[in-house]
Formats: sequence, structure tokens, C-alpha cells
Amino acid sequence: MALTCHQLGLKAQIFESVAHLKALGVGINLQPNAVRELFDLGLNDLLADIGIQAEEWALFTQSGELVWAEPRGLAAGYKWPQYSVHRGKLLMGLLAAVKERLGKDSVVTDARLTGYELTDTGVVAEFVSADGTTNSVTGNLLIGADGIHSQVRQQMHPNQGPPNWGGAVMWRGVSLGKPTRTRNSFVLMGSMEQRFVCYPISKPDPETGLSLINWIAELTLEAHASATQSDWNSSANIEDFIDAFTHWQFTWLDVPALINASDAVYEYPMVDRDPVDFWVDQRVVLIGDAAHAMYPVGSNGASQGIVDARILGAKLKSHGLTLEALKAYETEVLAPVNELILRNRGAGPIGILGVIEDRAPFNKIDEVISTEEVSEFMSAYKKAAGFALNALNTSPQTIGD
Ligand SMILES: Cc1cc2nc3c(=O)[nH]c(=O)nc-3n(C[C@H](O)[C@H](O)[C@H](O)COP(=O)(O)OP(=O)(O)OC[C@H]3O[C@@H](n4cnc5c(N)ncnc54)[C@H](O)[C@@H]3O)c2cc1C
Repeated sequence: MALTCHQLGLKAQIFESVAHLKALGVGINLQPNAVRELFDLGLNDLLADIGIQAEEWALFTQSGELVWAEPRGLAAGYKWPQYSVHRGKLLMGLLAAVKERLGKDSVVTDARLTGYELTDTGVVAEFVSADGTTNSVTGNLLIGADGIHSQVRQQMHPNQGPPNWGGAVMWRGVSLGKPTRTRNSFVLMGSMEQRFVCYPISKPDPETGLSLINWIAELTLEAHASATQSDWNSSANIEDFIDAFTHWQFTWLDVPALINASDAVYEYPMVDRDPVDFWVDQRVVLIGDAAHAMYPVGSNGASQGIVDARILGAKLKSHGLTLEALKAYETEVLAPVNELILRNRGAGPIGILGVIEDRAPFNKIDEVISTEEVSEFMSAYKKAAGFALNALNTSPQTIGD
């Protein structure tokens, strides 16, 4: 969002609650609709440096039978690649670009927003630092990009309550391993109750052929202590979940070996927020997870945050720093993304596993589902998430020259 403001000639400042920015997180995917926007911001080299171009998305049952495999990114005919990246490296790269273009003072750390106050001409944002010092900053607009626990959203929607937990827990890690299938495949296997995802997030070492493999092991549980927390950096123990995956060993993928090769494991409950019916409070607007935290089943949460920023930028360009601009952004994005939140509660693209399970027993998958039906299911998700192939390839630039 800050880079977009800079492109539009708007002065912007970022306030971040943590005192020291670190390269946190593990793997995330950037879909072609988001990569297009990052290319339009001149970040091609950053992505080429830190990212791996995804070539395939493949879905298997827990016994290892292939349900569906489709090309992704350039291999699928998109004009822009799909990138798998380390979230921390992406953030550090974006931060460097912001400091270079907007200046070092554009990023203020150790500034936790506690609330905002609307005035006749602008908005006053209030911040507190770790030592208790408070500070107020006045601007024309306040853009709340403060994630699933957004304070801006809390003030706009005071009765929203805590995030919703759907009963699943994800354990995540990064291990050195040999990429499976194509060198850059996103592999997902399992059932509606238990799943494993893995994909490479670094180029293979020329000598060993090993890459950093991002993985997520997911189990549906009746109750779990972590359901009440939703911190992406909460450490966990392999013993808490490895038993459920002991038999997931195939000639082409050894799930327990990959899990055991990880130095650190983090756990995160599958949480989202109920859709809300407005993201704008006069001069204040929500984007990213603050507006629409959703289950990370479609690999599109980060992408949607990037696209939000660009659409908001396009509206600021055509309407100026006005309520009209914020409303135009909300009108375009809120309804389809609220629908996506609910679609992701049904497991998004992975929901096809539920369709197949409902038709069991069977010997071979093609006895109960046709290629056309799976293809339609997958296309419907891409359309809902804003990266349907033809629509994206033929759509005009979000922010033109
Ligand atoms: C530490 C972390 C690790 C993650 N790891 C992964 C991952 O491995 N895989 C994955 O798919 N997704 C991960 N995510 C989620 C994913 O990055 C987001 O879904 C997506 O990128 C949306 O981004 P966002 O900018 O809207 O919100 P976020 O990425 O959540 O960023 C919000 C930012 O706002 C800051 N903030 C919060 N409250 C305040 C406040 N009151 N005042 C000032 N600043 C505030 C936070 O410190 C954070 O920097 C992670 C998120 C976080 C925060």
C-alpha cells in the first residue's frame, strides 16, 4: 500500500507495533493476480531473487492416489508467474523498497495503534510504544492493514468477538528436502480431516539438489489449547501430531521424514473472521487480513491483501483522498471477498476431497467423479479468488500510467 501511495505521489507513513522487524513466517504463495501488481510496482527482480515459480498444483488422497494435477503460473498460460516465497524474505524486500522510495522515516516501529478519532478535516491516529509513551498523528486517511487482530477493525466493529476456530490445527515448518514431481509443485494430500501440504520455497542447491521445503500438517481435533491463540509464531512439538502421519510414506514423498527434518515447528489454529458489511468509517479503511482474515486453504490471503492495496490505490487515483474513493474500493471488493471467506470455510479448492469422500466407497476415483467435474470445481475457486486465467490475462492494468 505504501509503495502504491508513492507511485501515486501521495505521502504515506507506516506505523508498526513491533520494535524490531524480523523475517518471520514460513512459506506463502503469491497468485498471478498479485504478482502482476508487484510487477507493476517494479518488484520483478525482488520476486525473481527470493521466489520460486510454481509450475503445478497437485491433489492426492491420503492413500496417495492422484485426484487432480494442473499447471500453474506461466505453465498454465498466465501472463504472470505464481511465486512461492518465504514470507519473511518478501516482507524484508518490500521494506527495503519502501525505505528506498519513501525514505527511511516512512517506517515508524514500536508504534502500536490504540485507536483513532475522526475530525472534520482528517483523522487522528493514536499510538503507544512498549515503554508506554503515547503519540498522536494526524492525516487525511488511516488505512488499517493491521492483520487478523486489527485494532482499527475492532474500533469499527466493537462487537465482533474473537476469531472463529473451525476445529483444525496447522503445524508448519521448513525442511531441506528433494522437491517432488516437477521441481516446483505444490502438493496437497489427505482428507477433509487430515492433510499435508508441501512445496519448495528455495531454488535447489546445485550440488545436493535439495531445496527448502515448506510444509503444513493439518489435523481436525475436537478441542485444542492453541484454538484460543492465533499467533503465527507459536512454537510446537513434532510429537503433538507426527503419529497421525507415520504411515504417509510413498516412493515419491516421505511425509514423516520431511517433518522430522525441520529445525522448528510452529502451530496455528485454522481461524478466520466473520464477514462484516462495511470496511470504511469515513476517513478510515481496512485492507488485507484486517478486512477479511480467511482460512488459508486457497493460498490467496497474502495475494488478496496486495490486490486490495492496488484497487484502493486505483480509486484514490480517480477520486482523490475522499470518502468516495474508499467507498468505491469497498463496493468493488467487499462482496466477492466476503463470499470467498465463506467458500474457504468449506475448504476452498480442497473441498473437492469432501465431495469425493461423500461418494465413497470406490476402487478408483474416476468411478465417482469425472475430470470435468473436478475441473469445474477448480475453475470456480480461481474465479472467486480473482485469478481465473482468461479474465485476468485480458483485464486492464489496475493502476495505469
Ligand atoms: C508473523 C506472521 C507470520 C505469518 N506467517 C504466515 C505463513 O507462514 N504462511 C501464510 O500463509 N501466512 C502467514 N501469515 C499470514 C499472512 O502473511 C497474511 O494472511 C497476509 O499476508 C495478510 O497480510 P496483512 O498485511 O493484511 O496482515 P499481517 O501479515 O498479519 O500484518 C499485520 C501487521 O500489522 C502489525 N500490527 C498489528 N496490530 C497493530 C497495531 N495495533 N498497531 C500497529 N501495527 C500493528 C503486525 O505486527 C503486522 O506486521 C503470517 C502473518 C504474521 C503476522
